[in-house]
Amino acid sequence: MNGLLRANLRTRLTILYASLLGVALLLYAGGVSVLFLHNLREQLDSSLDRDVETVEGALSADANGTLHLSSREGEAHEDELDRGYLLEVWSEDGKLLYRSALLHNQALGPIPDGSTGSGRRSAHSLRLSSGTRLRLISRIHHLGNGSAVVVRLAISQEHLRHEFWEMVTVLGIGLPVTVLLVAFTGYLVAARALKPVDAMAQRAAQITAEQLNERLQIENPNDELGQLGTAFNATLARLEHSFDQLRRFTADASHELRTPLTAIQSVGEVALRIPGDVNHYRDTIGSMLEETNRLAKLVDSLLTMARADAGRIQLHRADVNLFDLADESVRLLEVLAEEKQQTIQMDGSRSITVTADRTLLRQAIVNLLHNAVKYSPDRSTVQISVRETESSAIVEVQDNGPGIPLEDRGRIFERFYRVDKSRTRVAGGAGLGLSIAQWAIAMHAGAIEVQCEPGPGSTFRISLPKNGFSVAAH
Ligand code: ADP
Repeated sequence: MNGLLRANLRTRLTILYASLLGVALLLYAGGVSVLFLHNLREQLDSSLDRDVETVEGALSADANGTLHLSSREGEAHEDELDRGYLLEVWSEDGKLLYRSALLHNQALGPIPDGSTGSGRRSAHSLRLSSGTRLRLISRIHHLGNGSAVVVRLAISQEHLRHEFWEMVTVLGIGLPVTVLLVAFTGYLVAARALKPVDAMAQRAAQITAEQLNERLQIENPNDELGQLGTAFNATLARLEHSFDQLRRFTADASHELRTPLTAIQSVGEVALRIPGDVNHYRDTIGSMLEETNRLAKLVDSLLTMARADAGRIQLHRADVNLFDLADESVRLLEVLAEEKQQTIQMDGSRSITVTADRTLLRQAIVNLLHNAVKYSPDRSTVQISVRETESSAIVEVQDNGPGIPLEDRGRIFERFYRVDKSRTRVAGGAGLGLSIAQWAIAMHAGAIEVQCEPGPGSTFRISLPKNGFSVAAH
């Protein structure tokens, strides 16, 4: 059994189907044999029935009560007897009146009680002491002189048994031959049908992380194997995409980390090489700290994204007043805005409450505000407004910066994507702020979109669905 379980699929299928076919054919052959035997017996019994009537017609008794077989019928009957018929005639009081010579004085068994009757057939099987199997019919016959005799006519069953065993032999040889033939062709068909699986397995084994662009060849996409192959190819495509993203992320992250590190290193080396006064060293340490600060922020962002990718960030939902949250975010960026003599204006409804994770939602708003301050010119105004529509709560951040070119709008939410590398490098961004904001809003089933009218300025809009958020009445 274990060996069978370990065998390959085509062998298991072949054995299974051959066994099922074997059992089915065996049952069928058994049924046919029983029916065949029954029919042969029926035929034999009806011919016995006819013949016993012939014999009865040939029987007569003279005035002394001596039994005779009339010569015409008798001749005919003796012919029949030559062909294996055996006859016994008994008087009612149990005296043997006639017995075929072929019986060699062997009795056709005891006269069965109650199994005889005029006109009623009562055939049964019996076996002579010589071993010959017979089919016997017994009937009571009334002779012309009024006396009754028991007529017993038997015929050998050897012919019937021979025919039956002939059929059983034919079935007995034919059945295993058929099963073997079917098993053999079944194995070939299964091997052929499963050939694509072998090819797929070999191909799949060759595909490594370095060759994820390889795909399985699919002969017929509509059959089961084709569907399996299509699903496998789709999985490969997803894997390839994930691996690509991971590679890009690792390369971009390393690049972004190296830039401030190189800056710190070179600033330090220059300071060491050129002797200077306290102010000089203070400046150097100041710019080194600036780079360290940038590095720390970058590492924070990378950590946030790594946790987000691993699905390890749990939302701590609570009722959050959107206006208060926006105000809190504004205060966090006030120092930065003051440095650029910018004004941050707030307006909108003070009563919109959403059920959200306060920290994540604030991070998204802060990132948008930070960009607005970073990319807007000095002395400009940044506008933040909170409002609601029928289905959403909305926070909008509007600035007077350079705007985002149409061709970049689809990509600014990608990780490490920057519109103008040189411009933003000075401003200090690593291209992660918007992707983190987008992820944080998506965690709340919301969306961020950007709108830029022709000319300077851009508007980033966060919309959170009211469905699942509680919005307080005004
Ligand atoms: P970064 O840290 O570089 O700001 P973000 O993911 O926040 O990264 O933004 C991606 C890019 O989109 C930025 O590098 C910048 O080119 C552009 N961008 C984002 N916000 C603004 C804005 N308010 N005005 C102009 N450009 C913006």
